[in-house]
Amino acid sequence: MRRCPLCHSQDAAFFHQDKKRAFYACEHCGLIFADAASHLPPAAEKHRYGRARASAKQRQLAQFILPLLSQLAQQQAGRLRGLNFGRVLDDASLSNLEAAGHTLKQYDPFFAPDHEALRQRYDFVCSYRVFEHFQDPLKEWSLISRLLNPGGWLAIGTPLLTDLAGFAKWHYKNNLTHVSFYQRRTFEFLAQKGDFALLFAAKDLILMQKTSESGINRDPI
Ligand SMILES: [Zn+2]
Repeated sequence: MRRCPLCHSQDAAFFHQDKKRAFYACEHCGLIFADAASHLPPAAEKHRYGRARASAKQRQLAQFILPLLSQLAQQQAGRLRGLNFGRVLDDASLSNLEAAGHTLKQYDPFFAPDHEALRQRYDFVCSYRVFEHFQDPLKEWSLISRLLNPGGWLAIGTPLLTDLAGFAKWHYKNNLTHVSFYQRRTFEFLAQKGDFALLFAAKDLILMQKTSESGINRDPI
């Protein structure tokens, strides 16, 4: 058994071995994760990650953020202030978004490590094709949870693992920078643990809302 890097229970058991890596499955939260010994060193991770900055990926990111923002704008009056976590949006899409009156800060650990952006609070945080790269998902989750205002939205774009039996043939696990894989129940677990409501989780979109009471009266009086 291994310790799960997301819920820290000791309930993770060996799950699958492919040509390059071993994977473990957590009984408690449903996370499937690659053996930490197979994690790429930061320089190699940056190189692989950098290749994903090609225009096709940026277009997908824009297609993820822009419709999301128009949906959120219908839910909440006024201008929205958000953080794009993990991957940087292209300049043209950013200008469109700012022209609509919204503000989007961006944080990318390799190419835009703006740590000041991680000390603020936002109406929404979006993160496209990033969660699967988390080598320490608990640390990243704790950080992201803190970045949201009560009532704020969290939109995550990561392919949900829906068929455990099909994992061996799932191409998504073959990319060595993909180290954490989530099931719907993993996000149910996180919602409950972190005072979020899980609004939607299907295919590759997870939408959560931080409950309004979050952060209030948490300390014993
Ligand atoms: Zn777990």
